[in-house]
Amino acid sequence: MRHRSTILLIMMSLMSLETAHAKGIHVVSEGDTLWKISRTYGCNIQSVRDENGLVDSSLQVGQQLEVSRCKSEPAPTTRAQGKARRQEKVIRYRVRRGDTLGGIAARYGTSVRRIQQRNQIRNSAIFPGDFLELTPTKAPPLPHPKAVLGQSRGHTNSGRLRRPTRLHKGKGYFIRRAHRSYGAEHTVAYTKRMVRSVRRQFPKVHTLAIGDISAVKGGKITRHASHQSGRDIDIGFYFRRKPSGYPSSFVVATTKNLHFGATWKMLREFVELANRPLGVEKIFMSYSTQRILYKMAKKRGIPERQLRAMFQYPRGKFASEGFIRHEPGHDEHIHVRFKCPPKDAGCK
Ligand SMILES: [Zn+2]
Repeated sequence: MRHRSTILLIMMSLMSLETAHAKGIHVVSEGDTLWKISRTYGCNIQSVRDENGLVDSSLQVGQQLEVSRCKSEPAPTTRAQGKARRQEKVIRYRVRRGDTLGGIAARYGTSVRRIQQRNQIRNSAIFPGDFLELTPTKAPPLPHPKAVLGQSRGHTNSGRLRRPTRLHKGKGYFIRRAHRSYGAEHTVAYTKRMVRSVRRQFPKVHTLAIGDISAVKGGKITRHASHQSGRDIDIGFYFRRKPSGYPSSFVVATTKNLHFGATWKMLREFVELANRPLGVEKIFMSYSTQRILYKMAKKRGIPERQLRAMFQYPRGKFASEGFIRHEPGHDEHIHVRFKCPPKDAGCK
């Protein structure tokens, strides 16, 4: 009995959908949400709102909504709305098969939360053909650092540091050993920039553990072969929930505990510096951790081409391809090595 009435209800609503389709009018029924309606007719939420002069998403049963413009271009916007949107930069994205909110967020520099809020989605269910509005977070306000010559001397494993730049305490990160928080200017500046842009995208993410850079004058320090000339820095991962002991200690990254979005953003921030003159030379990460991140990324729809450029995985621990390379013991932190400033002869 219950089944039959459910089927009847579905049939009725399908029928009313049919007629409504024809007229370009949707009559709101119990349980309708703007998101559902927009999805049904292939519009985005904002255009349904604009078309019907709705200020928010509350609907009343029986209310009639104009949906005739759906499946075509989004409704025209007023000048003010247009201006606000241009400033905000909104991307209209059509969901493809295999997409996940996490993957879309990672690809477009936004977060699952932002997408959910913007598109009024409560859970993570999205379907091929859905339209989503994406609002990528703005570029970080910190400019790229300027070259400071004469700081990093010699090689990273037999060098020293002059006129060091200190990574001072700051918002969003924790320095594990203050006496090893000295580096070259660009090492420090780009690390702060990374933290800033991760937090712009994920404002609620926990404090990040920062491990050793170099001692105040550089040179050999315990536990490390490199870290001698201010161009190496160890950095922890971002977790879904801050593990106990973190950030005063590093914690091994697993599929279960990693905050994929924030960790991915951190890696992308560094990888994207690969072509800058003061940018990143190499990232070290255990092969097993590469595999975890590679698989998480693939599952979220990050294109294979991008993954192959980023990771040495799956080519083997000794392969000389991929920007991120295996180094034993780097399953609880990454090691980022920055380049020598151009024309800085003493920096090797
Ligand atoms: Zn290191």
